[in-house]
Amino acid sequence: MIGAGLAGSEAAWQVASAGVPVRLVEMRPVHRSPAHHSGEFGELVCSNSFGALSADRAAGLLQEELRRLGSLVIATADAHAVPAGGALAVDRGRYGAALTAALEQHPLVTVERREHTVLPAEGEIAVLATGPLTSEPLAEQLRAFTGRADCHFFDAASPIVEGDSIDMAVAFRASRYDKGDADYINCPMDREQYLAFRDALLTAEQAEVKDFDRDSATFFEGCLPIEELARRGEDTMRYGPLKPIGLWDGRWGDVNDRDVRRARRAYAVVQLRQEDRDGRLWNLVGFQTNLRWGEQKRVLRLIPGLADAEFVRFGVMHRNTFLEAPQLLDPSLQFRRRPSLLAAGQITGTEGYAAAVAGGWLAGTNAARLVRGRPPLTLPRTTMIGALTHFIAEAPSDRFQPMPPNFGLLPELPDRIRDKRRRYGAYRDRALADLTATLAGAAA
Ligand SMILES: Cc1cc2nc3c(=O)[nH]c(=O)nc-3n(C[C@H](O)[C@H](O)[C@H](O)COP(=O)(O)OP(=O)(O)OC[C@H]3O[C@@H](n4cnc5c(N)ncnc54)[C@H](O)[C@@H]3O)c2cc1C
Repeated sequence: MIGAGLAGSEAAWQVASAGVPVRLVEMRPVHRSPAHHSGEFGELVCSNSFGALSADRAAGLLQEELRRLGSLVIATADAHAVPAGGALAVDRGRYGAALTAALEQHPLVTVERREHTVLPAEGEIAVLATGPLTSEPLAEQLRAFTGRADCHFFDAASPIVEGDSIDMAVAFRASRYDKGDADYINCPMDREQYLAFRDALLTAEQAEVKDFDRDSATFFEGCLPIEELARRGEDTMRYGPLKPIGLWDGRWGDVNDRDVRRARRAYAVVQLRQEDRDGRLWNLVGFQTNLRWGEQKRVLRLIPGLADAEFVRFGVMHRNTFLEAPQLLDPSLQFRRRPSLLAAGQITGTEGYAAAVAGGWLAGTNAARLVRGRPPLTLPRTTMIGALTHFIAEAPSDRFQPMPPNFGLLPELPDRIRDKRRRYGAYRDRALADLTATLAGAAA
């Protein structure tokens, strides 16, 4: 097991719990990462929250699935939870000490505190769980192994919203100059709306940028945050991602009529591009941003058509090593080219603490199954773990970006439920029932 972060700790525990000896290699505290502060396992690098607790929220459902799967990390978090208004937040010190002790004291776990610099050899059953800040010698090996120099090192991702929450009475589907299919959802603005939106961007509160991110960001001129484009001039966004040219809503009238065109054409247009195979998640094109998450919600809802948008992920700009998983991994988290090697956590392109634990559970479980000569497990797409692992293995690979748990990843319910709470409750019930059935089958 390489890396004792959230994913590696969970994976090591699952291997040992299956009665298989495991070596857990962690570079901290001998070799420090730019964001971690301690030598403890499963350190929470930033917030102390695993997300919403209730199982009719996406992060909460993932936690509940993990609880039922016997996750060490979630059990430790539950044991050291602090009141956090409906979220699973922990006393960081107690949680970290308990998790580290549980692993160090397990008779089948051998801990090695050193930087691992070579990829495991062919046939050696191993899990790579070195996270978004994988140390450079290993990252270099990974680039050589995957043959992909574009293993991402800086994540400048735009926010993603649920397609259902876009107001299509305002937005419209079209491609620029009607080329190809109407692949984009377009949110048109008039001059007044554009200027108000720019003002809001300019005055919104920024997230704190860490030193190591500032260094990486200087190499990223081609991917400027939207608020920086706004700052560069009144029209800069209109000549960049908000370019209105060639975009026309048929409801505005005949595009070939010059008077109609003059009267109705948009002053600026925000475009959204499909993120998943089924078109349930949409990405705001060119909207990588450093604004605080709460501010993103407030400001981006000023965009016509997005007033009630439900965000499944906010924009981020930070250093983040992640694999081009759709090209490389199976939903069992094995590398297609080398099935004895598995990957888990943020490095596979999932996002967030609970998602990292989930990947660790699956990779650890499958590593133990491989040792025992049993076929690897995949989980149903109707569960949050299954949906995430299938997503990273099967997402359109030309624009793969890390994905947090969200209900947009789950297959539609057989009957449409309009009320959001009831709909999410139905997703939860189906997920937990299917998980139980799969586990019963796997044990048999
Ligand atoms: C700055 C930052 C802030 C974040 N904040 C949040 C947040 O608030 N909430 C949230 O849900 N998600 C957050 N994330 C995203 C993500 O959930 C976390 O990064 C999470 O810790 C990922 O879990 P992991 O197990 O994949 O990686 P990690 O928890 O980072 O674990 C990887 C482990 O591998 C070790 N390692 C690396 N290279 C080597 C090597 N060569 N040899 C041996 N060991 C090695 C590291 O020391 C580390 O312990 C943040 C990410 C970053 C970068």
